[in-house]
Amino acid sequence: MNIILIGAPGSGKGTQSRMFIEKYNFVQLSTGDLLRAAIAQKTELGLMAQSYMDQGKLVPDEVMIGLVDGYMTSQAGKSVIFDGFPRTVAQADSLNAMLNKRASKIDKVVYFKINPQILVKRLTGRRTCSKCGEIYHIETKPSSKGHLCEKCGGSLTQRPDDREEVISERLAQFEKSTGPTIEFYRKNGSLAEIDSEQDPEVVFKQITKILDLA
Ligand SMILES: [Zn+2]
Repeated sequence: MNIILIGAPGSGKGTQSRMFIEKYNFVQLSTGDLLRAAIAQKTELGLMAQSYMDQGKLVPDEVMIGLVDGYMTSQAGKSVIFDGFPRTVAQADSLNAMLNKRASKIDKVVYFKINPQILVKRLTGRRTCSKCGEIYHIETKPSSKGHLCEKCGGSLTQRPDDREEVISERLAQFEKSTGPTIEFYRKNGSLAEIDSEQDPEVVFKQITKILDLA
C-alpha cells in the first residue's frame, strides 16, 4: 500500500507517520533523505542533482522521481508513506506515471485539515529531540525530564523554522504549492480528509479506518 500524507507543517503528519511505522510496519519515504544519500554515495542521480545544486538551481522533478523509483525497488513489498512529496501537480503527475510503470499506484491521500491559528500555537511550542527525533510540545506534551528527552535523554530543541516569524511564511508557501495538489487528488478520487485538530490517537484510528487496516 502506498499512501501520501498531506498537511501544513504542524498538522500532525510526522506524529501519525511515526505511529504507522511503529504499529503497521510502514516505511517512510523522505525525498530529502534520498537526495542526501544519493549525493553522499555519488550515484548517477546524486551527481546529477549535485550539478544542479552547484549552479544554484532546483533539482528537477525527473531526478527526484528517479530517486523515488529506486527507493520503491529497494523497499519492494513494503507499505510506503510519502511525506512531503509530491508537492506540486507536476510531481504528482510524474509520480503516477512512474508508479503505473511498476503496476503500482497511490492507494490513498490523507489530507490533514487544521485551522491556521491552531497551527501557529502547535508549531511555536514544538520541541524535537536532537538525538532520536521524538516530538514534544511545551503545553500539550511536555517531557517529564524538562528539556531532555524522556526516551533517550537527548536535548530538546526548537527547529529554526518553527519560530513564529518563519511560520506564517511557511504556511503561505504550503497553501500556494500544495493547494492545487490537493485538488488533483480530490479529482482523481483518492483524497480523504481528516480533522487533525483532534487528539493524535483519534486521528490515528480514523486513518486506520480510511486505509482499511482495522
Ligand atoms: Zn530522544
